[in-house]
Amino acid sequence: MLRYALGALLAVLSAASAAQPFEAACDALSAPAAEVRVLFAPAAAQVDESKASREIELDTEKAGAFRHLGVTRATLLRDVDVRLDGYTDPQTGRACAWPKVKLQLRVQPLLIELARELGADPCMRAHVFEHEMQHVAIYNGAVLRAQVQLESEMRAHFNERQLVGDARTLMGELQSQIADRWLTRLDALLAVAESEHDALDAAEERQAYSVCNGALSKLIKSME
Ligand SMILES: [Zn+2]
Repeated sequence: MLRYALGALLAVLSAASAAQPFEAACDALSAPAAEVRVLFAPAAAQVDESKASREIELDTEKAGAFRHLGVTRATLLRDVDVRLDGYTDPQTGRACAWPKVKLQLRVQPLLIELARELGADPCMRAHVFEHEMQHVAIYNGAVLRAQVQLESEMRAHFNERQLVGDARTLMGELQSQIADRWLTRLDALLAVAESEHDALDAAEERQAYSVCNGALSKLIKSME
């Protein structure tokens, strides 16, 4: 009877030791959580005053003449660094890992173009420059809000569970998920600011005709 009991215990132990190493190694991972960082440092705008209004290109047909006096161009670059921090079974190639994701956002270029004609009148130049700086503020504000929101959503998602599977496949899936799902989500978060830009331009369209003793209005009419 005693022998039988011992035999049964040994059987259980050996079954456990055969199944254990992978699970145990996965449980023992030093940082048992995903690491997600979305970084952004607002950039200062460069100013280019070398072009005449007719040389300033706009990407929208609906633009009124006043928009040719100044435009702000911003391109958001996204550098993605993805790693897997985990354990790979040397026998099977099976891996368990937590994703480590760093998404670095940079605005480059952030460029304000002011029409050369504005140089004729400091009031006009200041008015249009301030208008464009409000676009810059909207843009930087939108990226800052998107950065915080995206980081929180990605952390919640990736902390749900450890990734388990073939290491190379996991890495490929992680990379395409960042590109397809999360960078698309970033675009959607940034698109919210479009209405703020439109509202600013609608207000400008009304103001432009009364500022600087009508000088800006005259300039715009001469361009139409
Ligand atoms: Zn504008």
